[in-house]
Parts: sequence; structure tokens; C-alpha cells
Amino acid sequence: MPDLIHNLEAMQQRIAFAAHVAGRAARSIELLAVSKTFPAGDVRGAYNAGQRAFGENYVQEALTKIETLADLRSSIVWHFIGPLQSNKTRPVAEQFDWVHSVDRLKIAQRLSEQRPGNLPPLNVCLQVNISGEASKSGVSVPEAVEVAQSIAALPRLKLRGLMAIPEPAGTIDDQRVPHRALRELFERLCNDSLELDTLSMGMSSDLEAAVMEGATIVRVGTAIFGARDYSN
Ligand SMILES: *Cc1c(COP(=O)(O)O)cnc(C)c1O
Repeated sequence: MPDLIHNLEAMQQRIAFAAHVAGRAARSIELLAVSKTFPAGDVRGAYNAGQRAFGENYVQEALTKIETLADLRSSIVWHFIGPLQSNKTRPVAEQFDWVHSVDRLKIAQRLSEQRPGNLPPLNVCLQVNISGEASKSGVSVPEAVEVAQSIAALPRLKLRGLMAIPEPAGTIDDQRVPHRALRELFERLCNDSLELDTLSMGMSSDLEAAVMEGATIVRVGTAIFGARDYSN
């Protein structure tokens, strides 16, 4: 098992330093531990080290892990961050606390219809294709305003903000460009009278750039759990 105590501590230090540089309070940025491909035992290890928010990408893998860790369910916050097909929305609506990867209105409508009435509204972020890559999911910037307004009106969802996975870039300055664009879109939506509080952006390799541009949730996998092995 990776040294989770050390890695989580190191991540909190990276966040704190970037926040300091940006003149922000470190506690305004939440660390989401992305545990996809890693076993439930690693999630439990990170939990024992104090981590509470976990991100998963694959529905079946996540459901198995949530089930295995049922004893921790009331204190873990589970975030779904992967591509979501419309025929897989029901278990996500039933089992997760957050979905960051809402990339079209139809998915949001299904999640809202399927969110059980005994649970609080599902927290969601609208995923934006901020780098405009043809292969990437997410709404385009011009589409985002209208889609966000429609999602915000759904009864069983709470639209919290925006999420993006920018194209990788080498320097911090280059990494900041798409993060800045997402923040500017976020500000436009807030001026449009949407009450948003979440900018989900920044991963292992670009979290400093994201924090400097206003990230409130950074999603970190590799730097906590190690390199992923997709061979099985
Ligand atoms: C895998 C993944 C991450 C974590 O990426 P790392 O580079 O391992 O930190 C973050 N966000 C999303 C949407 C992911 O799929």
C-alpha cells in the first residue's frame, strides 16, 4: 500500500502553499481523493488517515467499493467524476452524494428523477469542455449558460458549480489559461443569478494552477494512491 498518511499530508501542503501564493485560505479548497482502480482497502487506509471525500469514475467498480465500505457510509462523501451513460444513472443517483460529470441536460433530468426522496438533493457540477477538444465530454462554453439554468431548475438536484478536465499543459502559466476560462464562466453564471459555490478543477499535475485560478475542489488520484494499473 502507498504511504497514504505521507501522501495526503504532502497534498495538503501543496494546496496550502498554492493557496498562500494566491492569497486564499487553504480551507476554502477541498481535497477529493480519486480512488478509481484502487482497492477498497486503500480507501479505508486514506479514511484512517483522515480523508473523507473520495472520487470514483466507473459505476460498477464504485458500487462494489461503496458496498465493501458500508460501515463508513455515513462519514464518507462519495463523488462520481467519470463519464456517465444514461442507462447507468440510477445507481449513481441512489448511491452517490455528488456527480461532477453532468455533461448534458438529459443526464441531469434522469439523475433528478431517480434521486430517492429520502435523500437530500444530489449535488452536481456541470462538466465543461473548456479546452474545446473534439474527443472530450462536457458542454461547450456557449452552451453552458442555458444548460446550467435548466439543471438548476430540477427539483432533486442541487447545481453546485462547474467541472473541467483541461488539456495537459507544461508550464503553470499555460495550465492556468483553461482554469481561468472556467472561473470566468463560473463568474458569469453567478452574475446570471445562479447560486454556485464549486469550481472542481485541478489534478495531480496542475493543482497549483487550478488553486491560483479559484478551484474549490481539486481531484487528486496519482499523487495520493500512486500510478494506476489498467491491465485488469
Ligand atoms: C482520474 C481522474 C482524476 C485524477 O487524476 P490524477 O492525474 O491521477 O490526479 C481527476 N479527475 C478526473 C475526472 C479523473 O478521471
